[in-house]
Amino acid sequence: MRVGAHVSVSGGYPKALEYALSVGCECLQIFAKSPRQWKGSSVDPDRAAEFTRLRLEHDLGPLFIHTAYLINVSTTDELLREKSIDALADELVRGSVLSAAGVVTHLGNDPAEEPRAAAKRAATAITEAFSRSESSHPDMRLLLENTAGAGRTYGSTIEEIAWILESLPDDVRARTGVCLDTCHAHAYGFDLSSAAAWEAILDEFDDRCGPGILGVIHANDCKFERGSNKDRHEWIGDGLLGESAFEAMLCAPRLSTVPAITEMPGEVPDKDSVNIERLKMLRERCSG
Ligand SMILES: [Zn+2]
Ligand SMILES: [Zn+2]
Repeated sequence: MRVGAHVSVSGGYPKALEYALSVGCECLQIFAKSPRQWKGSSVDPDRAAEFTRLRLEHDLGPLFIHTAYLINVSTTDELLREKSIDALADELVRGSVLSAAGVVTHLGNDPAEEPRAAAKRAATAITEAFSRSESSHPDMRLLLENTAGAGRTYGSTIEEIAWILESLPDDVRARTGVCLDTCHAHAYGFDLSSAAAWEAILDEFDDRCGPGILGVIHANDCKFERGSNKDRHEWIGDGLLGESAFEAMLCAPRLSTVPAITEMPGEVPDKDSVNIERLKMLRERCSG
């Protein structure tokens, strides 16, 4: 399992690359524009190409893009839905220009609390976003992220995510996968504490979504107890998931080719270097 972090590109791509390497990233995630705005200046293709060239030269990858938080593909609000489709299409184009392996998105919320209908709305919006981003790279996947289940956010269970996948046309479905956030899963109520618990979750993904559906894991420890629905990330090993959950994840044979990204919000010194170091230390224990 390759490990890395969500890295800021606010100082430009060369700085982001330098930072990612300095904290020990083997793979990385970035925002391709401000995550709190609908629009952003477009990605310069030459800068993106140089970024990719240097990234690959340093064996730093895969790269993931996290979409803006405003995107809401499950909503019943027509205006919000229309903006979300355009914004998602734009993120897919950005991801392609940046040679990303995946574009990670949240699924928005389901105000009517009718999950089957929300899944259909999300699937239609995703399909439309792909068709509005025709230039996006066919090997790049859109990755649907699970949520902690607070409020009416959509996609906290594997079943809800599977309902979206089932509702996609085959060509779009082939380009869609899943991002599993460990903190969100724990906060929702999943048990991730042991190798057997991980096996059970991965079995459920295989059964409901098909093998190979996981494109990336957001490896975040969690401040609050299982089932709390509270999405508060904690440093690896310091939260209620603890080292054993991450050791089990890192050593799961089925996850060996799935990259893990840590996401600690805010400008906390050393957060990325320490979290990556901890993940690498736990990964060392696997071979024994
Ligand atoms: Zn996310
Ligand atoms: Zn989170």
